Amino acid sequence: MKDIRMIADEDVPCWYELSWDKEQIGIILRIYQDIVKSERCMVEKHPHLDQVLEVHPGLGEFQPSYNDDFGFEGRLLRLGERDGFVEFFIKIPAVSISLGVSCKSCSGTGKDLHHLDMDCHACDGTGIESKYDWREAFQITSSLAILFQHIRYPGFETTCLLPQLMLVATMSRVNAGMHACGIGGEYSLALMRYLSEIPENHRLPYVEEAMTKAWDRMLTIRDELYCNRMHAYIQTSPGGFTIDVPGNACGIYPSSSANFKRGEQLSGYDFTCHNTDTPAQQLTMLAGLAALHDGARLYLSKKT
Ligand SMILES: [Zn+2]
Repeated sequence: MKDIRMIADEDVPCWYELSWDKEQIGIILRIYQDIVKSERCMVEKHPHLDQVLEVHPGLGEFQPSYNDDFGFEGRLLRLGERDGFVEFFIKIPAVSISLGVSCKSCSGTGKDLHHLDMDCHACDGTGIESKYDWREAFQITSSLAILFQHIRYPGFETTCLLPQLMLVATMSRVNAGMHACGIGGEYSLALMRYLSEIPENHRLPYVEEAMTKAWDRMLTIRDELYCNRMHAYIQTSPGGFTIDVPGNACGIYPSSSANFKRGEQLSGYDFTCHNTDTPAQQLTMLAGLAALHDGARLYLSKKT
C-alpha cells in the first residue's frame, strides 16, 4: 500500500481549496476534478448519509451531488469548472435583517432610555427594529461541515499541480449555543513557506478586510469596537498564524502541540479555535482563511 503523505511534511497535490470573492462578498470552494469524479468522494455514496443528516435538523432538503448546487437547499452554488476545479460560490448571508420599523425599546431614538449617552441595546443604536435569522447561515455551515468531513482524506492523490494549502474541519450544531460551530484543521508545509516569511506581530490587512466584510454582511458593523476586534496576524515566528473575531476570546490559533519546525525544516501544523459559538464567527474565520489561500497562492506562484 502506498504511504499516506502528510501535508505538514511535504507538498501533496491539492484536492480542495478556498478563495475569497471580495466583490460578491463570498467564499469560493474549489474541488479538484479527480475528487468530483471519484465514487469514494461522492457525498451521495456516503454509507451513513441519513445519520449524518440527522445531526443537522430543520435545514431543508440536502443536495449531495457535485453536479448541481450543493448542500442544504443548494446553498453552495455551483459556478462551473475552471483550471481543473469545480467551483462553488458561498454567498455570505445576511443574519440581522432590518424590519424597517422603529425600535420598540427606544421608540426609534437609538438611545438607551435610562442612559441617554449610551446606544439602545435592542437595536444597537440604529433606532430600527431588526430580527436575527440564522437559518441560511446554518444551512451553509452544516453543508460545509458534511463536505469537509467527507473529503478530508480522499485516499488517493489528485493530478493537480498545486499543493494542498490546508485542511479544514468544522462543526455545526443548529441552535446549540456555546461551542456550536467549532473549527480546526491543519496548515500545510506549502502554506508555512508563506506564513514563515511574515514577521512576528505583523498583521495581514487583506485577511482582516475579508473578515470585516463577511461580518458586516451578516450582522452589520455599527461601531469601531467591532472592527477593532477583527485581527489576523503572526503571533509567534515562524508562521504562528492567529485570527481574532468578535466574541468571548473567540479565534483560531496554533494548537498547543503545534511544531513549526522539524529540526531545521519548516513544518505545517494543526490549528484549533476557542469559543466559536455562532455561524457568523465560523464564516468570518472561513472568509479569513479563504483570503489567506489567495495570499499564499500569489506568494507561492511568484517563488516558482
Ligand atoms: Zn432601539
